[in-house]
This record gives sequence, structure tokens and C-alpha cells, in this order.
Amino acid sequence: MAKCIPKDRQKSASQACQKKGMFLDKQAYYETIDKNPVNMTTIHDREYAGHLQLIKFLSDSWLFVKTAQFKKIERIDSRDKYINYVGGDYYHLEATCPHCEKDIEYVERLGDVNQPFWLGTNCPRCNRKLKVVK
Ligand SMILES: [Zn+2]
Repeated sequence: MAKCIPKDRQKSASQACQKKGMFLDKQAYYETIDKNPVNMTTIHDREYAGHLQLIKFLSDSWLFVKTAQFKKIERIDSRDKYINYVGGDYYHLEATCPHCEKDIEYVERLGDVNQPFWLGTNCPRCNRKLKVVK
């Protein structure tokens, strides 16, 4: 992280942390910077943990993720041991990524495609998260 901060800001950050007593010896701090992380923020640990929980909830719930409609849902006439065991069929799926506007294709095992469903995935071209809905 220290590599991302401009040199003059690193100096002022380390001076501020030293004034707060977060570390006493500057040389020892830099020699062990990768072993003993120091919290350089003013956010209280409880508040920080709350932010992390919110971010995890938003990520896990797929809220605010851009969506795309399936352009093609085509059953693939092929079966294997996996499909015979779990059921369903393989489908060739196509959509347009809402981020990069490129056409994307997937092969997925699906159950009943007559029901509404959505697929949470990443675009194989721009790697951004999207939700493809029927
Ligand atoms: Zn994309």
C-alpha cells in the first residue's frame, strides 16, 4: 500500500501516525512494514467492520449489479454423466454485456428454462460483474 502513496504523502502519513503513537521508531516501522500492519485510518474498528459487512452484503445479494437480457437460450443436445446425475440440460446462452457492449456466450447446465431465472456471472471480455435475466 505504501507504494501507491506519493512520497510526500507517505512522509506526512507516517509523521501523523508517529504523532498519534501508533509506532515509536520510524526505522523499525519501515523495516517491518510488511509484517506488522498499522491502521493508518481514523475509522473506528467497529465502523470499519460495519462497512465491510455492508460491502459483503451488497456483493452477495447482487443488488445494484447491471443486468442484461438473454439474447439466446438454446438447448445443446448432449448428455454426460454429470447431467445424467444432476438432471437438466446444457444450454448455449448469449447476451450483450451492459458494461462493454460486447456479445458474450456461456454454456450452462440449467433446469426448467420455461420459468423466469437469472444468471450471475462476470463478463469474459471486461471481467465486470453482471446479471443476465430471462
Ligand atoms: Zn463486458
